[in-house]
Order: sequence, then C-alpha cells, then structure tokens
Amino acid sequence: SGCRESKVRVKAHFDYSPETDPYIPCKEAGLAFNRGDVLHIVSQDDAYWWQARKETERSARAGLIPSRALQERRVIHERTQKAQGNDSKTENNDFDREMIATYEEVAKLYPRQGVYRPIVLIGAPGVGRNELKRRLMARDPEKFRNPVPYTTRPIRQGEVAGREYIFVTREKMEADIAAGKFIEHGEYKGHLYGTSGESVKAIVNTGSVCILSPHYQAIKALRTPQLKPYIVHIKPPSFEKLKESRTSARAKSTFDETNSRGFTDEEFEEMIKSAEKIDFLYGHFFDDEILNDDLAHSFEILVSC
Ligand code: 5GP
Repeated sequence: SGCRESKVRVKAHFDYSPETDPYIPCKEAGLAFNRGDVLHIVSQDDAYWWQARKETERSARAGLIPSRALQERRVIHERTQKAQGNDSKTENNDFDREMIATYEEVAKLYPRQGVYRPIVLIGAPGVGRNELKRRLMARDPEKFRNPVPYTTRPIRQGEVAGREYIFVTREKMEADIAAGKFIEHGEYKGHLYGTSGESVKAIVNTGSVCILSPHYQAIKALRTPQLKPYIVHIKPPSFEKLKESRTSARAKSTFDETNSRGFTDEEFEEMIKSAEKIDFLYGHFFDDEILNDDLAHSFEILVSC
C-alpha cells in the first residue's frame, strides 16, 4: 500500500519525443511529453532513464524519459556543439548546470511560500476518511485544522455553537448558498449542512493545513485556483483485506468508532463498488491515492505527503 506514485512530481521544461531520440533503449517504451507537463516519476533507479507517468494520464503505463542527468548532458553537449559552430568557445564557460532547465520539482503542499494547500480526503463512506482526519488533527492540532461546518439543524445538548457547527437559519444559509459562499452543501434529514469557502481560506491564511473530507461531489466546487486543494482518494483494500482489517477487535475500535456494530459483507462490497465509481468519475482529479488497509500506515503516508 502507499501513495500510488512516487513522491516525486516534476514539471518538464522541455519537449520530449522518444520517436526522435536515437539513444532511447526502446522507442515503444518511451513517454512523449511537452514542456509544462507535470510528470510523476515512478522510478529513478537507472541513472539515465527514469520511468514516469503524465499526471493527466495516471492510468496509462509508465514510460521511459531521460533522467535529469542525461538531459543536462544533452543540453550541455548541444550548446557546446553550437558554440563550436559559432567559433566562440569561450561561451562554454558560461554554462551553468543550474541554468539548464530540465525538470522542476512541483511542491505538493506549498503553492506559495508558507501556505499549505487544503487536503481533501475523498472516499467511499466507511473507508476511514474521518478517522484519518481526526488522527491528523489529534497529532498536530495547530497544523491540521478542519473548518467548522454550518448547519440549519437545532443545536443539541452538549454542543457549543461555533465548535461542532455554526448554527444558522435556513433563510440565511439558503441566501449564502445562492451567493456561492459554500464550497459544498447538502441536505440531511431535512436540515442543510455545508462548508463555506471563507472558513477554508481562513485556515489556509493562518498557515495551517485545512483538512476536509466532503462528499465526492464537492470536488468540482473545491478545485478552484484560489483553494488549490490537494485531493487524496482513500481507497478500500480487497474484500478479504477489508473484512480482516475491519472486523478484528482492535480495528473495530479504530476504524469504526462511531459504528460499533461493524460492517456486513454487503457493506464491504458496497464500499468497494463505491470506490470504483468514485475512481471512474473523479480519478483524474486525484493528486494521490492511499490504500487504507491499515490506518496507522495510511496515517503515516498522509503525514509525509
Ligand atoms: P449531525 O446532524 O448528526 O451532526 O450530522 C449528520 C450528517 O450531516 C453527517 O453525517 C453528514 O452527512 C452531514 N454533514 C455534517 N457536516 C456536513 C457538512 O459540512 N457538509 C455536508 N454536506 N454534510 C454535512
């Protein structure tokens, strides 16, 4: 289990075509890309040929691309030849490795200095997103914060206004929804619930990681250039593993805090089907995937992502 891709994401600063590359070991195995494409580097085991996938074609097979070192050599070689052609060898000295644009690492969580992208945990109901979210916030409450949602339902005993929810009237909430102030909202048992874009921005602006686990339909509203969310699909493992990991006594108390009766086989199957549907509909929006076969492990992946 783990992030589907390696942690290395790079933006290409040059066009590459295996077709016209005389040195690639196998043209069919190559991956063509254009300047500006974001690539997920799957393997850097070979010094000259990395294996990569395009971010926009995540289900395609990985292909060979020149490593940074190889591309740098090529550029230096080309420039040297050009310089010799122009009979101005002194230009060689101007070559600075760092000035050769090959691949630029794309920071996952830092689009701007000191500001984290909101992390959006998407997944089938019951897969463990909320527990992961709780654990992240428990581990570092200053760093990981969850915006307080709005609701029109009456406040319950033991709840504190502004802590569990911001309690508002239906009129107010409907007007705010119409004004586009909510990144997501829904109705449950006759009451409106939702998260406002302002709450997310407020957390981001204080330098914390805003962590959200909304319904997958919220993805479209969340993917704005202002919010730049980092969207992670929390996926269930196979039926057997799911059953094994969720029905042991220990797992029950961690995976299933709010639902101590546990899951039925039908519910496990439903979870797997739901994950497939989510992947089919929204797979192209995911920045990462975590197979949640073990909560503690998934948690560590999430902390390091
Ligand atoms: P409760 O009223 O018991 O606190 O929450 C009931 C349900 O409201 C939750 O299980 C969830 O489905 C929904 N809910 C809670 N917060 C939000 C939110 O921010 N947005 C949406 N769409 N639904 C929410």
